[in-house]
Amino acid sequence: MQKGKIDVTTENIFPIIKKFLYSEHEIFLRELISNAIDATQKLRTLASVGDYKAELGDQTIRVSLDKKKKTLTVSDRGIGMTGEEIKKYINQIAFSSAEEFLEKYKNQSNAIIGHFGLGFYSSFMVSDTVEILTKSYKKGSKAVKWSCDGSPEYTLEDIDRKEVGTEVILHLDKESKEFLEESRIEEMLKRYCRFLPIEIAFGKEKEWKDDKYVETDKDRIINETKPLWTRKPVDLKDEDYKKFYQDLYPMSEEPLFNIHLNVDYPFNLTGILYFPRIKSNIEIQKNKIQLFSNQVFVTDSVEGIVPEFLTLLHGVLDSPDIPLNVSRSYLQGDPNVKKISGHITKKVADRLEEIFKNNRDEFEKKWDDLKLFINYGMMTEEKFYDRAAKFALLKNTDGKYFTFEEYEKLIKENQTDKHKSLVYLYATDKQEQLGFIETAKNRGYDVLLMDGHLDTHFLNHLETKFKDSRFARVDSDIIDKLIMKEDLAATDLSARDQQELRTVFESQLPGGANYMVSFENLGENAQPVLITQSEWTRRMKEMSELSGGPNFYGELPDSFNLVVNASHPLVNRVKEAKDKSTGKKIADLDEKLKPFEEDKASLEKEKEGKKEEEIPQAQKDKLEKVGKKITELEEQKKTVLTEYGRKNKIVKQLIDLALLSNNMLKGEELVKFVKRSVELIK
Ligand code: ADP
Repeated sequence: MQKGKIDVTTENIFPIIKKFLYSEHEIFLRELISNAIDATQKLRTLASVGDYKAELGDQTIRVSLDKKKKTLTVSDRGIGMTGEEIKKYINQIAFSSAEEFLEKYKNQSNAIIGHFGLGFYSSFMVSDTVEILTKSYKKGSKAVKWSCDGSPEYTLEDIDRKEVGTEVILHLDKESKEFLEESRIEEMLKRYCRFLPIEIAFGKEKEWKDDKYVETDKDRIINETKPLWTRKPVDLKDEDYKKFYQDLYPMSEEPLFNIHLNVDYPFNLTGILYFPRIKSNIEIQKNKIQLFSNQVFVTDSVEGIVPEFLTLLHGVLDSPDIPLNVSRSYLQGDPNVKKISGHITKKVADRLEEIFKNNRDEFEKKWDDLKLFINYGMMTEEKFYDRAAKFALLKNTDGKYFTFEEYEKLIKENQTDKHKSLVYLYATDKQEQLGFIETAKNRGYDVLLMDGHLDTHFLNHLETKFKDSRFARVDSDIIDKLIMKEDLAATDLSARDQQELRTVFESQLPGGANYMVSFENLGENAQPVLITQSEWTRRMKEMSELSGGPNFYGELPDSFNLVVNASHPLVNRVKEAKDKSTGKKIADLDEKLKPFEEDKASLEKEKEGKKEEEIPQAQKDKLEKVGKKITELEEQKKTVLTEYGRKNKIVKQLIDLALLSNNMLKGEELVKFVKRSVELIK
């Protein structure tokens, strides 16, 4: 027996490993099994080129537990090691400046393990003693046993062993009893080893016999050695992809479709990405993609490796070219990773375009579900936008789908305004904005349906992309102003009538929001009163609400336009009624106002051309007094009109009708409206 000291610069590295890698103790199993896989594959390669001539035999890798001895064993029939190789590969590890490095990366055990080739040593995270029993494939080599108790000292001795291969025995420490539980090991195997390329046996298959499960002598293989993504797409059917999806995400709904990636130049990348079906926005989950390196599970947090928008997809990616065992920030800056990321984007776009071209019907059917991914991608990845602009769809309120190009063609002629700007009309709610949608359609306009979660952001983005175009929600203005073709004729109402009527209408406005009352000639057949909200104000508010947190626009009260249709007979009736009941009082007040206004005019005239200091104080005082009097009388006029307005049931009714058509009349106000309507009919 030989004794020796492991070549580490730090006196005792194992306590450090234990301490800092604490959170991910379980990776030891992945590391041991990875080594076993490597060794097995190496021997197969040697056999295939004729450098190993003996029978390969059963190459199953075995994981076994011995509860009494408190051991966990991983055994393989790979190339094995000679005593010299153990000294070389296991004992001499470059632990230069180990402590410093561990301190720096204490939360990134993957990085530590990758950096040191610490794979095998991770077994000390859970063991008091580790033994390696191994025999090299090399002719004439002796089997050896290596043993180490976690101090830098080890022993190495010759043993009797016929089979080529390696057995690693972990004597689990007190804190690691959990790894003696079958269920715990099974869970870890499922997580890390599910798709490894060599069969791994853990326990025996069970059989239902005499009312209970009994073990058979058949090995229970826990992995699938040829997972779907490693196979050729031509050999696979739709069902295979669906089944694989179910295996990966049990209980999930069927995905929309999949993309099988198979790249071997300029780098190696395989994988299957699925577009999941999502029912609501709450369901969107990032980090469902699993990343593998040669079928070894690495991580399911793929941010920085795949383009941001694709993190919404599901599936698997496998690439030995991604430097997996390094820190995330390193990954994000890695040119290889950037290339891979760009390539995935391209492939995804190609596949989508292919489906669109070959099966547009199918594509349209799936569009509503797909849209979120595609629009998000278009907003976040310039390159993806360029590709997706060919197949991304717009849906109108009749449920028809158009590509950007098709839609532009459709509306170009009719929806270009006098400033040569193409106006895309849209609705966000078909029911609530139905009145406005109908009005627009009667004009021969087309109205898009933009009812998705991201749509406000998306149309903002499209405005930066589409030349000379803008988006306007159907209820953001009266139809003539939505797409302004020519200057509008002024209303028949005089400025004075408008001012008075404005006061009358203002007396009945609902609280909680700001309303601007204006007058337009909308025609006899249009509604008497309309409520619109400017595109800009609403969008600012929506955008800031989406981005969350306190913000300026989000906290502003809503502001609307109350458009009174001056050419509507009912409005005319209100005007006449107003004149009839307030005319006398207003005329009296006007009479009183007259001398003051004249005074004011002449005083102002005197002031003309004079500097402030040249005007006598008496004159200034007089002007102020007159001004005050005028304001007072104007206030009185306003009071007369307001008092009148408040009693006018038709005004209230007209405003409520406008609110009602925008689905803005609710609660108590709605109850009152119903009562008032009944009264008015009686
Ligand atoms: P890594 O696998 O990253 O090289 P490890 O510390 O896990 O680092 O292993 C060091 C070396 O020990 C391996 O490169 C391999 O040569 C050898 N080794 C480990 N496990 C086995 C095994 N089961 N069979 C044969 N050789 C092994």
